[in-house]
Amino acid sequence: TLYNQVQDLKGNIRVYCRVRPFLPGQSNHFSTVSHIDEGNITITAPSKYGKEGRKSFSFNRVFSSSATQEEVFSDTRPLIRSVLDGYNVCIFAYGQTGSGKTYTMSGPNDLTEESVGVNYRALGDLFFLSEQRKDTIHYDISVQMLEIYNEQVRDLLVTDGVNKRLDIRNSSQNGINVPDANLVSVSSTSDVMHLMNLGQKNRAVSSTAMNDRSSRSHSCLTVHVQGKDLTSRNTLRGCMHLVDLAGSERVDKSEVTGDRLKEAQHINKSLSALGDVISSLAQKNTHVPYRNSKLTQLLQDSLGGQAKTLMFVHISPESDALGETISTLKFAERVS
Ligand code: ADP
Ligand code: MG
Repeated sequence: TLYNQVQDLKGNIRVYCRVRPFLPGQSNHFSTVSHIDEGNITITAPSKYGKEGRKSFSFNRVFSSSATQEEVFSDTRPLIRSVLDGYNVCIFAYGQTGSGKTYTMSGPNDLTEESVGVNYRALGDLFFLSEQRKDTIHYDISVQMLEIYNEQVRDLLVTDGVNKRLDIRNSSQNGINVPDANLVSVSSTSDVMHLMNLGQKNRAVSSTAMNDRSSRSHSCLTVHVQGKDLTSRNTLRGCMHLVDLAGSERVDKSEVTGDRLKEAQHINKSLSALGDVISSLAQKNTHVPYRNSKLTQLLQDSLGGQAKTLMFVHISPESDALGETISTLKFAERVS
């Protein structure tokens, strides 16, 4: 496919930038994003960039605030297909809290057919394509949903409310895995909807105790695909991680203490570890520092080697988000 040819030229890491629209009720004032074309975004920041007052950043693709969920997904599709061919894939949503990460991955709170995000569309494609191939390959698709909070891995698919911490294992047969997390077999998008609701509910339970924990933990929907070729009897395995990362905003160390400071330090550490891993892969370094966070340990099999990585970086358009916008774009530039 065209995508694979492009991949061969550019390596296996792609970065897409998406700008959130102003929200209803927000005065539609000055946006810090002054220009977008295909792969370039220009930020207007007179206070930062002197006389010119602008700076451009380049990515594989930039989606303006008017891009639809469907448009965003259509550029993601080829990656999804490759999971059925036995590739490992990681798709990340990065950005400050409120910039649209959850919107891209899952959608808004009031889901409609048009507004569903990458998660549901990706699984929909997997079901559709596996059905198309059913005369030659039999596919089993199952999912796990994990949360990483304060460097601890927890299962979001528990039904008894007991959300014990889990270990990441590495076995020769299964590679990196979390054997004690629920692994649920799925065969339709409604199965997936049901599980995602359960996962979201489990996340919400913890957030009442600790106010909006979802922005301070990483959530990872992992899709395991096993295909058995009906003639040769060979099996292939592919795996896709869909990761809604914790908010990337820096907290003011003079303002937070105790648990909030600890959370912030954990987030900071794991996002920089992720940045270090992806940028060392992009530079084709021989040493890739996977061991520095639970997040990069968990995803090790799906970052680097033959695996394909897509990072969505999200930008809030408001002028008071400018500082975070610039650090987000710098992070994205470092990994692309
Ligand atoms: P994050 O997960 O990064 O904290 P959210 O995805 O929750 O951010 O988005 C914040 C708010 O903006 C939500 O109300 C969401 O529905 C809305 N939003 C985000 N991106 C878009 C978009 N592309 N179009 C319309 N509304 C959006
Ligand atoms: Mg979110």
